[in-house]
Amino acid sequence: MKLALTNATVFTAVDEEALTEATVVVDGERISWVGPAAEDPADAAAVVDCRGKTIIPGLVDAHAHLVYDGVTDPYTIELSRPLERAAIDAALNAERLLSLGFTSVRDVGTRGNIAVTIRDAVAAGKLLGPRIKASKQIISVWGGLGDLHPTHIFRREQYAAALTEIASGPWGVRDVVRQQVKDGVDWVKCEASGTGFNPLCPADRDTMSLEELKALCDEAGAKGRPVACHAESRDSIINAAKAGARTVEHAIFLDDDGIQALLDHDVAVCPTLGLYTAFAEKGLDFGIPREIVESHRRTHELHAAAIARAHDAGITIIAGSDSGLANFPQGGGLEEICTYVERVGMSPAKALLCATRHAARVIGHEEVGTLEAGKLADLLVLERNPLKDVRTITDPAALTAVMQGGRVAAGELPAPVVNAVASGAGVG
Ligand SMILES: [Zn+2]
Repeated sequence: MKLALTNATVFTAVDEEALTEATVVVDGERISWVGPAAEDPADAAAVVDCRGKTIIPGLVDAHAHLVYDGVTDPYTIELSRPLERAAIDAALNAERLLSLGFTSVRDVGTRGNIAVTIRDAVAAGKLLGPRIKASKQIISVWGGLGDLHPTHIFRREQYAAALTEIASGPWGVRDVVRQQVKDGVDWVKCEASGTGFNPLCPADRDTMSLEELKALCDEAGAKGRPVACHAESRDSIINAAKAGARTVEHAIFLDDDGIQALLDHDVAVCPTLGLYTAFAEKGLDFGIPREIVESHRRTHELHAAAIARAHDAGITIIAGSDSGLANFPQGGGLEEICTYVERVGMSPAKALLCATRHAARVIGHEEVGTLEAGKLADLLVLERNPLKDVRTITDPAALTAVMQGGRVAAGELPAPVVNAVASGAGVG
């Protein structure tokens, strides 16, 4: 059945402008027409008057970890909860993200193979959730970001149910990539530096070697899988770009050489600025260990300035949250968008593009991310216009409805008026 959403302000994300007094026609799971209400084909069977409301594309979170729930430190990701609990957390988080307006996500690190499992369950209609591009465990090296636990307890086999998989050398990382492709991943996630979140491997430490990174990207590329590389240290960013990663995650110590490397190799950056600000500003209030908070306090201003320079240089920024922590719960992607306006200096339109068109294109969801005829009808109906006040998107009361594939997945649309002519009911 055709449905026309009329008289709305519509941000299509095709460009930075919004249409006013516009109509979006949804036919089944797809958009069939977008344009000024005056040119509306008026052949829809049901008409929903969206006067005063704003329609934007469904949001994309390009850096999700569906298994994260109330995390405060590396130990609460894994040691405090079994794999079975993590699977349930991931299913519940998927539904929650959809209800907040995220109609697509890329999961960049899970336990076991949970993200692929949730992806398939959502695609089969068994679970509610965003469209998911899934990776498996984060490929790490010994002593790297993912080697989270003390050596006196942990050995390789104990990492089977962990967030990370440890590999050594070019052939070691190739082996893991091959197995992950067999297990159904869309993306391969690896790490090339430490993180302020793991006191055993700080953010400015390089981890995976260029030789290993090249082998990993080569193996993944040969199998049609792009690579997302966690890279916080200066050289890890440059190495990730040279090796062939499609996206660099975080990019804290990004300098001019790093910016040039990202430009030279057409690499997008997913900065996760909102999380780092949340660590620095309210980590202690939520039980984040002091050394993790202090680490982020040292870098978060420098990081925001680096991302602003990268944006000015023309690097594609994609919005991702890294959320699911006690101080930054699932749905932090909404805050991430606001951070681009408030700390990077983007216009609200540019910030929304990072969470719609740019993110959808880069993560490989070509059929969503903009409101255009032929695309899947993933869209949000908002009470107010986020181009005027970007914080609108963080207000649950301002989210009227979430539509995914032409179906209302959360909230409620205003009651439709049945169009007698288009429905074939006739008059009299
Ligand atoms: Zn992450």
